[in-house]
Amino acid sequence: MNIKSLTLPELTALLKDLGQPAFRGKQVYTWLHKGVRSYEEMTNLPKGLRDILSEKYPIYPPEVVRKQESQRDGTIKYLWRLADGNCVETVLMRYHYGNTVCISTEVGCAMGCAFCASTIGGLVRRLEPYEMLDEVLFTQIDSGLPVSRIVLMGIGEPLDNFDNVMRFLELVNSEDSMNISMRHISLSTCGLIPKIDRLAEKKLQISLAISLHGPNNEVRNKIMPVNKAYPIEDLLDCCRRYYDATSRRIHFEYAMIDGVNDSEADARELLRRLKGLPAHFNLIPLNHVEESPLKPSSKAAVARFQKILEDGGITATVRRTLGGDIDASCGQLRRKYTKGN
Ligand code: SAH
Repeated sequence: MNIKSLTLPELTALLKDLGQPAFRGKQVYTWLHKGVRSYEEMTNLPKGLRDILSEKYPIYPPEVVRKQESQRDGTIKYLWRLADGNCVETVLMRYHYGNTVCISTEVGCAMGCAFCASTIGGLVRRLEPYEMLDEVLFTQIDSGLPVSRIVLMGIGEPLDNFDNVMRFLELVNSEDSMNISMRHISLSTCGLIPKIDRLAEKKLQISLAISLHGPNNEVRNKIMPVNKAYPIEDLLDCCRRYYDATSRRIHFEYAMIDGVNDSEADARELLRRLKGLPAHFNLIPLNHVEESPLKPSSKAAVARFQKILEDGGITATVRRTLGGDIDASCGQLRRKYTKGN
């Protein structure tokens, strides 16, 4: 495991094995989580120790390949190159309640959703805990903007990379790292039921978002292959268990696709199925992806859908699309880059 993926107690133990006093662990951890680019920057460490660490435990800060800033809303999108040459995207969004970073959890994605650019080339590999941490850290450093919230809604399926994502959450939440509150972190999944149950056991205070995108199996099967393994009835039962275990209201994401999932009947079916489950809907007009024939719903269809949900007692917001001028949605920038190279 990379040294930057270690927790503070683990790092302290590692330094102890190198014959170092206990306080070194915290010193090195603090430096690493400040985003130093080399051990040379750790000026309060003896030179000999810095040399040993850089030889035995090299650190690999990501490099900026592309940086695009929206002229409309200040959204900044980064394409990073990782140590092995793979690229991932991170997006910084500026909301009135704080700057939010949307991170990738995998290089590519295995889930195969029909509307999503991230999955076109399949899954290349899962990200290490420190690579996710670096996305947040170096976005903050490069932009000069303090980050207070994180959403795991970039490239990849976070629950397909369960252990590394859990470790990342522990790191980024820790006091001597970025100290970002669990309540300010959202994790989004397409619906891997056994992993949602495992997450529930941990009783974290994070927000869980479910990419629903359809009111029934017929619609979901068409656009989300994961539904064939984990059908909607089972998924919603799982959401109820999650709520019972955590008392956290569940967020549902719903990409509105013209003629596919946006009818009045679809909205009413959702109301029936979600009865009694405290939920919040995020309606997202589909971002058009070049390779896909699917089109966004009209503004009128989105408004009609929202009204039916709200009249039925489910809060539903239409997500403002940020960064529309900079390919800021899921996997589009990486896709363009890999196609061009
Ligand atoms: N794999 C996880 C994390 C991705 S989160 C998940 O499926 O939840 C990114 C969100 O954006 C998901 O809800 C995803 O379904 C949605 N999305 C992907 N492509 C989109 C597109 N072209 N338009 C609108 N939403 C999209």
